[in-house]
Amino acid sequence: MHVTENAPLAPLTTLRLGGPARRLVTARTDAEVIAAVQAADGAGEPLLVIGGGSNLVIGDAGFEGTVLRIATTGFRLAGTALELAAGEVWAEAVARTVEAGLAGIEFLAGIPGSAGATPVQNVGAYGQEVAQTITEVVAYDRRERETVTLPAADCAFSYRQSRFKADPERYVVLRVRFALEAADGACSPIQYAEVAKTLGVSAGERVPLRTAFETVLALRAGKGMVLDPADHDTWSAGSFFTNPLLTPDQYQAFQRCLAERELAAPAWPAPDGQTKTSAAWLIDKAGFGKGYGSGPATLSTKHTLALTNRGRATTEDLLSLAREIRDGVHAAFGVRLVNEPVMVGVEL
Ligand SMILES: Cc1cc2nc3c(=O)[nH]c(=O)nc-3n(C[C@H](O)[C@H](O)[C@H](O)COP(=O)(O)OP(=O)(O)OC[C@H]3O[C@@H](n4cnc5c(N)ncnc54)[C@H](O)[C@@H]3O)c2cc1C
Repeated sequence: MHVTENAPLAPLTTLRLGGPARRLVTARTDAEVIAAVQAADGAGEPLLVIGGGSNLVIGDAGFEGTVLRIATTGFRLAGTALELAAGEVWAEAVARTVEAGLAGIEFLAGIPGSAGATPVQNVGAYGQEVAQTITEVVAYDRRERETVTLPAADCAFSYRQSRFKADPERYVVLRVRFALEAADGACSPIQYAEVAKTLGVSAGERVPLRTAFETVLALRAGKGMVLDPADHDTWSAGSFFTNPLLTPDQYQAFQRCLAERELAAPAWPAPDGQTKTSAAWLIDKAGFGKGYGSGPATLSTKHTLALTNRGRATTEDLLSLAREIRDGVHAAFGVRLVNEPVMVGVEL
């Protein structure tokens, strides 16, 4: 276990933002993870668990407690069953499953961060989300002080949500298990219109696994959604806002607002009679185009949903841009955007 006092956190995040941690512990085995959690909990010390820091907005004041960085390794494939240690680099694990000819997570290629964080917000992209393939999550339960194995059905997965995100003080994910598919070198049925269109196929069709993987990586790179240290458009936390889920009443009010402005917004059916609309569309139509902003934090020049650090931003700079956009969208369309990244010591 590696311990540093007063450790800078900004270099551990993809936004490169945030003040120092009182103590930074890097754990390389499950036993080290559990020992570090127990030590912090036993001392009543605030604890922040981090993986790749790609979904975190840490305040400029930093974190007055222990930050536990999970750096465990383990990629185990038995037939179509995959088990990943929480610290495995997600994008590398996806590439290895494609190499092994297995479908199920290929559309989640290029997403930064660790395997252990994927169940936390039910990571998803291009028509796939981890909830579709996760069978079990092995976690340390801080309340019961024991290691538990949670079947997927007990993980309360929904759009960018899970029981881990809903109860952030309780579980530390140690291992994630997936059931993949051996589909004779083909990908999962394509669900996402943009992918189908790019490949010149219809939704529901399959293409060779590697073609699907490379297509997604190219689409993502074009939007600044693959990490590249030289490209400030990727100094982000990915999508800063989730796509809003509107109740029937909220959707009706939204429709009236659109009709007044002679606009039509993207809309998809969502569970419980809700309708999902596009945060990127709302931001753009509210007047915040790609590259918006003149300060050290701006929208990405490739995607309106990514708020980026152009090199010298502070967390406060980023948050004031986020507030301006959230409030501008609300004023224009009556829809309130909700942040996707986890806020540490700050609020929007
Ligand atoms: C360029 C870019 C593109 C992105 N694209 C997508 C996308 O397409 N789809 C998508 O869903 N997300 C996307 N993201 C967001 C992010 O990559 C994912 O949410 C990722 O899973 C976060 O992993 P991480 O290890 O970096 O988590 P961190 O940022 O380190 O942590 C995020 C949260 O998870 C918790 N956490 C981390 N590890 C554990 C653990 N082992 N146990 C318990 N809690 C833990 C942390 O406490 C924190 O609350 C993108 C981000 C970037 C920068």
